[in-house]
Amino acid sequence: MSIKNAYLQGVYEGLTQRYPEQKEFLQAAEEVLESLEPVVAAHPEYEAAGLIERMVEPERVVMFRVPWVDDAGKVQVNRGYRVEFNSAIGPYKGGLRFHPSVNLSIIKFLGFEQCFKNSLTGLPMGGGKGGSDFDPHGKSDAEVMRFCQSFMTELYRHIGPNTDVPAGDIGVGGREIGYMFGQYKRICNEFTGVLTGKGIPYGGSLARTEATGYGLCYFTDEMLKANGKSFQGAKVVISGSGNVAIYANQKATQLGAKVIAMSDSNGYIVDENGIDYKVMKEIKEVKRARIKTYLDYVPSAKYVEGSQGIWNVACDIALPCATQNELPLEGAKALVANGCYAVAEGANMPTTPDATAYLQENGVLFGPAKASNAGGVATSGLEMSQNSLRLAWTFEEVDARLHDIMVNIYKNTAAAAEEYGMKGNLVAGANIAGFQKIASAMMSQGVV
Ligand code: NDP
Repeated sequence: MSIKNAYLQGVYEGLTQRYPEQKEFLQAAEEVLESLEPVVAAHPEYEAAGLIERMVEPERVVMFRVPWVDDAGKVQVNRGYRVEFNSAIGPYKGGLRFHPSVNLSIIKFLGFEQCFKNSLTGLPMGGGKGGSDFDPHGKSDAEVMRFCQSFMTELYRHIGPNTDVPAGDIGVGGREIGYMFGQYKRICNEFTGVLTGKGIPYGGSLARTEATGYGLCYFTDEMLKANGKSFQGAKVVISGSGNVAIYANQKATQLGAKVIAMSDSNGYIVDENGIDYKVMKEIKEVKRARIKTYLDYVPSAKYVEGSQGIWNVACDIALPCATQNELPLEGAKALVANGCYAVAEGANMPTTPDATAYLQENGVLFGPAKASNAGGVATSGLEMSQNSLRLAWTFEEVDARLHDIMVNIYKNTAAAAEEYGMKGNLVAGANIAGFQKIASAMMSQGVV
């Protein structure tokens, strides 16, 4: 264990004893607790108030059965989850993930991280996360609809516009949000902003679809500029080809970069002329096809089987935008060897702890997910504001607010790192800056 402070060590050991099988959650908790050592040392009142013990336990965990009938008439059963982690600064807020790998450990890790990320946005949102081990790949629209309706038939009783406001994540896009919103409205007989990521005709926010990818680039741009670099003329590698990856491509290209590689879980493509995000959008959002199909549009591009090799593609900036632990130590070594000078996380916890340490030790600018991918949830927060106001802002207005939020996140993160003697360490800075507001709210609200 890398935690040295005795109080934090005790809290972490308690977690390892209670949840030995929750490896993703333990990984996320260890990283945060390690960053908090100087803060806890400066605030002995936190230990007296049992603050960290409370922060690492979710306020509520809901697990439920999701039965549905497939197109062949066969009954299928999946598991559903909602982890309501912390509501000290606002209603629980965080996405729903539909992917076969989903389990309680993954949802707890995501929910825990979400608390700090949401705090960093400066908006009044607590942290939560949910999902199911349902796999939407290869299912018909009717099957996805029946699944979503069944999922919401249980979830509706735990959420609400002032209680818990879920959104999308891996495997949950506009289609799934629409089906779930329809079912919530039908059961509750209420039209409220209970989900974000909604379609524009029924209360969605313009720029929400683009927000995580755009926000990632706004954050990265700020980080680059603060270090005398820029996207202009840079070669960028983006893993994944989903929601985050596609719009990160669009914004990085607009900012003057060339995106030369992207992936899905089967393999990756390299196109030295630059990958057009519109082609990727057509393949992934319209056709829901594999990334290999890119060769039908651009025959001069190269396809390589296996997604891991993407980190061997020489680049200046890498944006991991697929999934957790997708950038391991070997990948980090390859990036450094090829001269990469900046990595910013679009996905949640895509970089393993040893890879993060290696990148930082080798002088690579590193933007941690909590800060760099907070643009999605920030814009979900703006969607909530619009729903409460019963107003709709223009794309430009939302985008300008998103830009301001990301610039502030960078500044607050960098300042927190510097204040606690870790200048340039944005991992520590994001954890500390996110933590401070929640800690202060929890201290004011008593032992709850
Ligand atoms: P999507 O489901 O839209 O896309 C995920 C993409 O990652 C797909 O292209 C998928 O390929 C690919 N992928 C999955 N596993 C791997 C792997 N092992 N190697 C390479 N590619 C892989 O999800 P999102 O884009 O929404 O989310 C991506 C990440 O960003 C997640 O970590 C999510 O938590 C995070 N995030 C998302 C936000 C949002 O607003 N959407 C907000 C903040 C964070 P395939 O189709 O083959 O599965």
